[in-house]
Amino acid sequence: MLKNEKDHDVVKKIELGPFPYEGMAATNATGDHTLMKLERRALQPKDVAIKVLYCGICHSDIHTIRQDWGPIKYPQITGHELAGEVVAVGSSVSKFKVGSKVGVGCMVNSCRHCDPCTNGFEQYCENGSVSTYAAEDRDGSITQGGYSTLNVVDEDFVIRIPDQIDLAEAGPMMCAGITVYSPLRHWSVGPGQKIAIVGMGGLGHMGVKIATAMGAEVTVITTTKDKTEDAIRFGAKNVILNEDATDFSKYKRSFDFMLDTIPYQHDIEKLLPMLKMNSTLCIVGIGKVTEPHQVGPFSLLKSRSSLSSSGIGGIRETQELIDFCALHKIKPEIKKIPMTQIDAAWKNIFDKKARYRFVIDMKM
Ligand SMILES: [Zn+2]
Ligand SMILES: [Zn+2]
Repeated sequence: MLKNEKDHDVVKKIELGPFPYEGMAATNATGDHTLMKLERRALQPKDVAIKVLYCGICHSDIHTIRQDWGPIKYPQITGHELAGEVVAVGSSVSKFKVGSKVGVGCMVNSCRHCDPCTNGFEQYCENGSVSTYAAEDRDGSITQGGYSTLNVVDEDFVIRIPDQIDLAEAGPMMCAGITVYSPLRHWSVGPGQKIAIVGMGGLGHMGVKIATAMGAEVTVITTTKDKTEDAIRFGAKNVILNEDATDFSKYKRSFDFMLDTIPYQHDIEKLLPMLKMNSTLCIVGIGKVTEPHQVGPFSLLKSRSSLSSSGIGGIRETQELIDFCALHKIKPEIKKIPMTQIDAAWKNIFDKKARYRFVIDMKM
Protein backbone atom coordinates (compact mmCIF):
# COMPACT_ATOMS: atom_id res chain seq x y z
CA MET A 1 0.00 0.00 0.00
CA LEU A 2 2.81 2.34 0.86
CA LYS A 3 4.42 1.53 -2.45
CA ASN A 4 1.20 2.42 -4.28
CA GLU A 5 0.93 5.73 -2.52
CA LYS A 6 4.46 6.51 -3.50
CA ASP A 7 3.80 5.63 -7.13
CA HIS A 8 0.73 7.81 -7.09
CA ASP A 9 2.81 10.74 -5.85
CA VAL A 10 5.29 10.30 -8.67
CA VAL A 11 2.52 10.39 -11.29
CA LYS A 12 0.99 13.45 -9.65
CA LYS A 13 4.30 15.26 -9.69
CA ILE A 14 4.77 14.67 -13.41
CA GLU A 15 1.26 15.96 -14.12
CA LEU A 16 1.73 19.10 -12.07
CA GLY A 17 5.07 20.03 -13.56
CA PRO A 18 7.38 21.88 -13.75
CA PHE A 19 7.03 21.28 -17.48
CA PRO A 20 9.98 21.05 -19.84
CA TYR A 21 9.36 22.75 -23.20
CA GLU A 22 11.12 24.03 -26.28
CA GLY A 23 10.85 27.52 -27.63
CA MET A 24 12.35 29.79 -30.28
CA ALA A 25 14.06 32.62 -28.46
CA ALA A 26 15.63 35.80 -29.79
CA THR A 27 19.06 36.18 -28.21
CA ASN A 28 19.60 39.81 -29.18
CA ALA A 29 17.87 42.82 -30.77
CA THR A 30 18.54 41.70 -34.35
CA GLY A 31 15.87 39.06 -33.77
CA ASP A 32 17.52 35.88 -35.02
CA HIS A 33 15.89 32.94 -33.24
CA THR A 34 17.51 29.94 -31.55
CA LEU A 35 15.84 26.79 -30.21
CA MET A 36 16.03 26.69 -26.42
CA LYS A 37 14.97 24.07 -23.90
CA LEU A 38 13.38 25.62 -20.82
CA GLU A 39 10.90 24.85 -18.05
CA ARG A 40 7.46 26.23 -17.23
CA ARG A 41 6.44 26.58 -13.60
CA ALA A 42 4.66 23.79 -11.70
CA LEU A 43 0.88 24.20 -11.71
CA GLN A 44 -0.60 26.57 -9.15
CA PRO A 45 -4.18 25.64 -8.13
CA LYS A 46 -5.76 27.80 -10.88
CA ASP A 47 -3.18 27.11 -13.62
CA VAL A 48 -3.67 25.11 -16.76
CA ALA A 49 -0.82 23.63 -18.79
CA ILE A 50 -1.41 24.16 -22.50
CA LYS A 51 0.22 22.23 -25.29
CA VAL A 52 0.75 25.04 -27.80
CA LEU A 53 -0.16 23.84 -31.29
CA TYR A 54 -0.15 27.19 -33.12
CA CYS A 55 1.05 30.71 -32.50
CA GLY A 56 0.46 33.73 -34.74
CA ILE A 57 3.27 36.17 -35.42
CA CYS A 58 2.39 39.76 -34.50
CA HIS A 59 4.32 42.94 -35.32
CA SER A 60 4.49 43.52 -31.53
CA ASP A 61 6.83 40.52 -31.31
CA ILE A 62 9.24 42.29 -33.65
CA HIS A 63 8.90 45.66 -31.89
CA THR A 64 9.59 43.99 -28.54
CA ILE A 65 12.72 42.11 -29.62
CA ARG A 66 14.09 45.17 -31.44
CA GLN A 67 13.49 47.15 -28.22
CA ASP A 68 11.31 49.67 -30.08
CA TRP A 69 9.16 49.79 -26.94
CA GLY A 70 12.02 49.88 -24.43
CA PRO A 71 14.84 47.65 -23.19
CA ILE A 72 14.24 43.92 -22.61
CA LYS A 73 16.32 40.99 -21.37
CA TYR A 74 17.50 38.21 -23.70
CA PRO A 75 16.97 35.41 -24.48
CA GLN A 76 13.29 36.20 -24.99
CA ILE A 77 10.54 34.08 -26.51
CA THR A 78 7.70 36.19 -27.94
CA GLY A 79 4.30 35.22 -29.40
CA HIS A 80 0.92 36.24 -27.96
CA GLU A 81 -1.49 34.53 -30.31
CA LEU A 82 -1.46 31.03 -28.81
CA ALA A 83 -3.87 28.24 -29.58
CA GLY A 84 -3.69 24.70 -28.29
CA GLU A 85 -5.01 22.05 -25.99
CA VAL A 86 -5.10 21.76 -22.21
CA VAL A 87 -2.87 18.89 -21.04
CA ALA A 88 -3.01 19.35 -17.25
CA VAL A 89 -5.09 21.36 -14.79
CA GLY A 90 -4.40 22.67 -11.28
CA SER A 91 -6.42 21.49 -8.29
CA SER A 92 -9.05 24.27 -8.37
CA VAL A 93 -9.41 24.85 -12.11
CA SER A 94 -13.12 25.00 -12.97
CA LYS A 95 -13.41 26.31 -16.54
CA PHE A 96 -11.24 23.81 -18.40
CA LYS A 97 -10.35 20.15 -18.43
CA VAL A 98 -7.69 18.06 -20.10
CA GLY A 99 -8.44 18.17 -23.84
CA SER A 100 -10.16 21.59 -23.86
CA LYS A 101 -9.35 23.71 -26.95
CA VAL A 102 -8.06 27.05 -25.76
CA GLY A 103 -6.30 30.26 -26.70
CA VAL A 104 -4.11 32.78 -24.89
CA GLY A 105 -3.67 36.37 -26.01
CA CYS A 106 -1.52 39.29 -24.93
CA MET A 107 -1.83 39.08 -21.15
CA VAL A 108 -1.57 36.33 -18.56
CA ASN A 109 -2.31 38.13 -15.29
CA SER A 110 -3.60 41.30 -13.64
CA CYS A 111 -4.46 42.43 -10.10
CA ARG A 112 -8.15 41.27 -10.28
CA HIS A 113 -9.37 43.85 -7.76
CA CYS A 114 -9.04 47.33 -9.31
CA ASP A 115 -11.96 48.98 -11.12
CA PRO A 116 -10.91 48.02 -14.66
CA CYS A 117 -10.20 44.41 -13.60
CA THR A 118 -13.52 43.92 -11.83
CA ASN A 119 -15.33 45.39 -14.85
CA GLY A 120 -13.69 43.07 -17.38
CA PHE A 121 -11.02 45.43 -18.66
CA GLU A 122 -7.97 43.62 -17.31
CA GLN A 123 -5.82 45.13 -20.06
CA TYR A 124 -6.24 48.51 -18.36
CA CYS A 125 -5.46 47.16 -14.86
CA GLU A 126 -4.50 50.06 -12.60
CA ASN A 127 -1.71 47.93 -11.14
CA GLY A 128 -0.48 46.80 -14.54
CA SER A 129 -1.54 43.66 -16.37
CA VAL A 130 1.20 41.08 -17.01
CA SER A 131 2.01 40.66 -20.70
CA THR A 132 2.36 37.17 -22.16
CA TYR A 133 6.03 37.82 -22.86
CA ALA A 134 8.86 40.13 -21.79
CA ALA A 135 7.04 41.16 -18.60
CA GLU A 136 7.78 40.53 -14.95
CA ASP A 137 5.43 37.88 -13.64
CA ARG A 138 4.15 37.72 -10.03
CA ASP A 139 6.99 35.38 -9.04
CA GLY A 140 9.58 37.78 -10.44
CA SER A 141 10.39 35.69 -13.51
CA ILE A 142 10.16 37.12 -17.03
CA THR A 143 7.21 35.79 -19.02
CA GLN A 144 8.04 33.77 -22.14
CA GLY A 145 5.57 33.67 -25.02
CA GLY A 146 3.99 31.33 -27.49
CA TYR A 147 6.78 30.51 -29.95
CA SER A 148 7.01 27.40 -27.81
CA THR A 149 5.59 23.94 -27.28
CA LEU A 150 3.94 24.48 -23.88
CA ASN A 151 2.73 27.23 -21.58
CA VAL A 152 1.30 27.43 -18.07
CA VAL A 153 -1.36 30.10 -17.60
CA ASP A 154 -3.94 31.03 -14.95
CA GLU A 155 -7.33 29.84 -16.20
CA ASP A 156 -8.80 33.34 -15.82
CA PHE A 157 -6.60 34.44 -18.75
CA VAL A 158 -7.41 31.50 -21.00
CA ILE A 159 -10.05 31.69 -23.74
CA ARG A 160 -12.32 28.82 -24.74
CA ILE A 161 -12.18 28.06 -28.48
CA PRO A 162 -15.47 26.68 -29.88
CA ASP A 163 -15.34 23.60 -32.13
CA GLN A 164 -16.36 25.59 -35.23
CA ILE A 165 -13.08 27.49 -35.12
CA ASP A 166 -9.95 25.91 -36.52
CA LEU A 167 -7.21 26.15 -33.89
CA ALA A 168 -4.67 27.51 -36.39
CA GLU A 169 -7.10 30.32 -37.19
CA ALA A 170 -7.90 30.96 -33.54
CA GLY A 171 -4.36 32.20 -32.83
CA PRO A 172 -4.58 35.51 -34.77
CA MET A 173 -7.93 36.28 -33.14
CA MET A 174 -6.20 36.45 -29.75
CA CYS A 175 -4.30 39.66 -30.56
CA ALA A 176 -5.05 40.95 -34.07
CA GLY A 177 -8.75 40.09 -33.80
CA ILE A 178 -9.46 41.47 -30.35
CA THR A 179 -7.33 44.58 -30.93
CA VAL A 180 -9.66 45.69 -33.72
CA TYR A 181 -12.89 44.24 -32.28
CA SER A 182 -12.67 46.12 -28.97
CA PRO A 183 -12.55 49.66 -30.45
CA LEU A 184 -15.15 48.81 -33.10
CA ARG A 185 -17.46 47.77 -30.25
CA HIS A 186 -16.51 50.67 -27.97
CA TRP A 187 -17.31 53.25 -30.66
CA SER A 188 -20.51 51.35 -31.55
CA VAL A 189 -19.64 50.74 -35.19
CA GLY A 190 -22.65 49.35 -37.03
CA PRO A 191 -25.23 49.70 -39.80
CA GLY A 192 -25.56 53.10 -41.46
CA GLN A 193 -21.98 54.10 -40.68
CA LYS A 194 -19.08 54.68 -43.00
CA ILE A 195 -15.79 53.74 -41.44
CA ALA A 196 -12.19 53.53 -42.61
CA ILE A 197 -9.58 50.92 -41.81
CA VAL A 198 -6.13 52.45 -42.29
CA GLY A 199 -3.48 49.87 -43.14
CA MET A 200 -4.45 46.31 -44.07
CA GLY A 201 -2.03 43.86 -42.46
CA GLY A 202 -2.71 41.37 -39.69
CA LEU A 203 -4.90 43.77 -37.72
CA GLY A 204 -6.41 45.66 -40.65
CA HIS A 205 -7.65 42.63 -42.57
CA MET A 206 -9.46 41.40 -39.45
CA GLY A 207 -10.84 44.91 -39.00
CA VAL A 208 -12.36 44.86 -42.49
CA LYS A 209 -14.03 41.50 -41.92
CA ILE A 210 -15.32 42.30 -38.43
CA ALA A 211 -16.58 45.83 -39.21
CA THR A 212 -18.32 44.49 -42.31
CA ALA A 213 -20.01 41.79 -40.20
CA MET A 214 -21.09 44.52 -37.77
CA GLY A 215 -22.93 46.14 -40.69
CA ALA A 216 -20.74 49.19 -41.40
CA GLU A 217 -19.67 50.34 -44.86
CA VAL A 218 -15.89 49.88 -44.86
CA THR A 219 -13.25 51.78 -46.81
CA VAL A 220 -9.66 50.53 -46.73
CA ILE A 221 -6.81 53.04 -46.91
CA THR A 222 -3.62 51.23 -47.92
CA THR A 223 -0.19 51.98 -49.34
CA THR A 224 -0.11 48.59 -51.10
CA LYS A 225 -1.89 48.60 -54.46
CA ASP A 226 -2.04 44.82 -54.80
CA LYS A 227 -4.14 44.53 -51.63
CA THR A 228 -7.10 46.20 -53.38
CA GLU A 229 -8.77 43.00 -54.58
CA ASP A 230 -8.28 41.35 -51.21
CA ALA A 231 -9.89 44.33 -49.44
CA ILE A 232 -13.00 43.98 -51.59
CA ARG A 233 -13.02 40.21 -51.06
CA PHE A 234 -12.88 40.77 -47.27
CA GLY A 235 -15.98 42.99 -47.50
CA ALA A 236 -14.72 46.54 -48.12
CA LYS A 237 -16.84 48.77 -50.37
CA ASN A 238 -14.01 51.13 -51.32
CA VAL A 239 -10.24 51.29 -51.34
CA ILE A 240 -8.17 54.49 -51.19
CA LEU A 241 -4.54 54.18 -52.20
CA ASN A 242 -2.41 56.03 -49.68
CA GLU A 243 0.27 57.49 -51.97
CA ASP A 244 2.06 60.83 -52.03
CA ALA A 245 0.02 61.85 -55.09
CA THR A 246 -3.36 60.91 -53.56
CA ASP A 247 -5.77 63.85 -53.27
CA PHE A 248 -7.28 63.17 -49.85
CA SER A 249 -9.41 66.36 -50.04
CA LYS A 250 -11.89 64.34 -52.14
CA TYR A 251 -12.69 62.32 -49.01
CA LYS A 252 -13.09 65.24 -46.60
CA ARG A 253 -15.66 64.56 -43.82
CA SER A 254 -16.38 61.07 -45.12
CA PHE A 255 -16.09 58.81 -42.09
CA ASP A 256 -17.94 58.23 -38.82
CA PHE A 257 -14.93 56.38 -37.41
CA MET A 258 -11.40 55.57 -38.51
CA LEU A 259 -9.27 52.69 -37.19
CA ASP A 260 -5.58 53.17 -37.81
CA THR A 261 -3.60 49.92 -37.74
CA ILE A 262 -0.25 51.07 -39.19
CA PRO A 263 2.53 49.83 -36.85
CA TYR A 264 4.99 52.69 -37.45
CA GLN A 265 5.11 56.48 -37.52
CA HIS A 266 3.05 58.04 -40.33
CA ASP A 267 1.12 61.16 -41.31
CA ILE A 268 -1.94 61.37 -39.02
CA GLU A 269 -2.72 64.92 -40.19
CA LYS A 270 -3.48 63.61 -43.65
CA LEU A 271 -6.14 61.33 -42.18
CA LEU A 272 -7.93 63.59 -39.68
CA PRO A 273 -9.79 65.80 -42.22
CA MET A 274 -11.57 62.67 -43.48
CA LEU A 275 -13.46 62.40 -40.17
CA LYS A 276 -17.00 63.76 -39.97
CA MET A 277 -17.67 66.30 -37.22
CA ASN A 278 -17.43 64.84 -33.66
CA SER A 279 -15.82 61.63 -34.89
CA THR A 280 -12.86 59.59 -33.73
CA LEU A 281 -9.63 58.34 -35.20
CA CYS A 282 -8.43 55.44 -33.05
CA ILE A 283 -4.83 54.29 -33.30
CA VAL A 284 -4.21 50.60 -32.62
CA GLY A 285 -1.03 50.10 -34.67
CA ILE A 286 1.81 51.04 -32.34
CA GLY A 287 5.18 52.22 -33.67
CA LYS A 288 8.48 52.97 -31.93
CA VAL A 289 8.18 54.95 -28.69
CA THR A 290 10.96 57.22 -29.95
CA GLU A 291 8.94 58.20 -33.02
CA PRO A 292 5.69 59.84 -31.86
CA HIS A 293 2.99 61.05 -34.24
CA GLN A 294 2.72 64.76 -35.01
CA VAL A 295 -0.65 66.48 -34.65
CA GLY A 296 -0.91 70.24 -35.14
CA PRO A 297 -3.09 72.48 -32.92
CA PHE A 298 -5.83 72.98 -35.53
CA SER A 299 -6.04 69.44 -36.87
CA LEU A 300 -8.53 68.28 -34.25
CA LEU A 301 -10.29 71.63 -33.78
CA LYS A 302 -11.71 71.93 -37.28
CA SER A 303 -14.39 69.29 -36.83
CA ARG A 304 -14.15 68.65 -33.07
CA SER A 305 -12.34 65.39 -33.83
CA SER A 306 -11.11 62.96 -31.23
CA LEU A 307 -7.78 61.19 -31.48
CA SER A 308 -7.75 58.05 -29.39
CA SER A 309 -6.15 54.65 -28.94
CA SER A 310 -7.17 51.26 -27.63
CA GLY A 311 -5.29 48.28 -26.21
CA ILE A 312 -6.33 44.70 -27.01
CA GLY A 313 -9.50 43.73 -25.06
CA GLY A 314 -10.53 42.23 -21.73
CA ILE A 315 -10.88 38.49 -21.25
CA ARG A 316 -14.70 38.60 -21.37
CA GLU A 317 -14.57 40.69 -24.54
CA THR A 318 -12.01 38.36 -26.13
CA GLN A 319 -14.39 35.45 -25.52
CA GLU A 320 -17.17 37.56 -27.07
CA LEU A 321 -14.99 38.19 -30.15
CA ILE A 322 -14.24 34.46 -30.57
CA ASP A 323 -17.95 33.67 -30.39
CA PHE A 324 -18.69 36.56 -32.83
CA CYS A 325 -16.16 35.12 -35.31
CA ALA A 326 -17.70 31.65 -34.94
CA LEU A 327 -21.20 33.06 -35.52
CA HIS A 328 -20.22 35.15 -38.57
CA LYS A 329 -17.72 32.60 -39.92
CA ILE A 330 -14.92 35.16 -39.80
CA LYS A 331 -11.43 33.76 -40.24
CA PRO A 332 -8.03 35.37 -40.47
CA GLU A 333 -6.04 34.76 -43.67
CA ILE A 334 -3.13 32.67 -42.48
CA LYS A 335 0.02 31.03 -43.75
CA LYS A 336 1.38 28.22 -41.60
CA ILE A 337 5.13 28.00 -41.12
CA PRO A 338 7.43 25.76 -39.09
CA MET A 339 9.32 27.18 -36.10
CA THR A 340 12.49 27.21 -38.20
CA GLN A 341 11.04 29.88 -40.54
CA ILE A 342 10.33 32.55 -37.95
CA ASP A 343 13.26 34.74 -39.04
CA ALA A 344 12.15 34.60 -42.69
CA ALA A 345 8.56 35.40 -41.68
CA TRP A 346 9.68 38.44 -39.68
CA LYS A 347 11.52 39.73 -42.75
CA ASN A 348 8.41 39.24 -44.88
CA ILE A 349 6.28 41.13 -42.34
CA PHE A 350 8.77 43.98 -42.35
CA ASP A 351 8.74 44.04 -46.16
CA LYS A 352 4.90 44.15 -46.15
CA LYS A 353 4.74 40.73 -47.81
CA ALA A 354 2.61 38.95 -45.19
CA ARG A 355 -0.82 37.91 -46.52
CA TYR A 356 -1.99 38.35 -43.81
CA ARG A 357 -0.82 36.45 -40.74
CA PHE A 358 1.98 33.95 -40.35
CA VAL A 359 1.06 31.21 -37.89
CA ILE A 360 3.71 28.90 -36.47
CA ASP A 361 2.61 25.27 -36.61
CA MET A 362 4.52 23.48 -33.86
CA LYS A 363 4.04 20.12 -35.63
CA MET A 364 5.65 21.19 -38.92
ZN1 LIG B 1 -0.03 41.37 -31.06
ZN1 LIG C 1 -6.35 45.43 -11.86
